[in-house]
Amino acid sequence: MLNSENREKLKELEIFKKVAFEFKMGWADLVYELGKDIQELCELTNCELPMIQQIKEKMGTLRFYYNTLNSPYPQIVEKSIRALVDKAVLKSANICEECVRFGELRVDKGYWFVSCDEHKRNSITAEEWKELDKKQREALENEQINKKPYKPLKFEEIKSPILKRKIMEKVACFEAICWDYEIRAVDVYNILRTKDDTDFPISYDVLRKKVLKYISVDNLKKVFTDEQLIEIFSDTSLRTIRNPEKKDFIKELKKV
Ligand SMILES: [Zn+2]
Repeated sequence: MLNSENREKLKELEIFKKVAFEFKMGWADLVYELGKDIQELCELTNCELPMIQQIKEKMGTLRFYYNTLNSPYPQIVEKSIRALVDKAVLKSANICEECVRFGELRVDKGYWFVSCDEHKRNSITAEEWKELDKKQREALENEQINKKPYKPLKFEEIKSPILKRKIMEKVACFEAICWDYEIRAVDVYNILRTKDDTDFPISYDVLRKKVLKYISVDNLKKVFTDEQLIEIFSDTSLRTIRNPEKKDFIKELKKV
């Protein structure tokens, strides 16, 4: 990391007496200047030195953790220390951490660092990374969209409260069926929409027959769209239906 010369120079500053240096020699001068500036500021304003907790590289740039809890600082001094630190952090994004020459933020296999051309290894720039990341995300999204088969939403998965309330009002007609089984009106809706009857005391097939028998065509048309009605009822055998109105209804669905 740092050589002994860097370390000795930094330790000359009172402010750095107790802190460890977790960065490479390219930033030694930058951190030294920062420490010296804060120290001078505190001397000029008769303030104590802030506590320096950690000085390190993180996500490629400098992190300088300190606190001013050890004594009361005038607000302008606090602000000035913050400004000095922010300026140094900003500068670190253009100083090669290895050798102090001009550098830029780069990334290599998820590891971020600031480096000059000589020390860049196989890394790419932040801009190249953003471009690559965007492409990878898009590819992943496309893959997911292509993979995901269309799945009807259960009542609980619907986000819009208005839509939920509307469905609640409409499915109230299913209460007539619920009495025989321990299910709610929205369960009837869910099972018919998703064909998923696991965990319910009635199967999808029996349920749709019951619904067809006990719920009026008008109500069914209120609850479901034409596509949904076709999906649920169009393969019902006409021989099993006695009610002439329901028979016509199924015939209509079969035609589409
Ligand atoms: Zn370098």
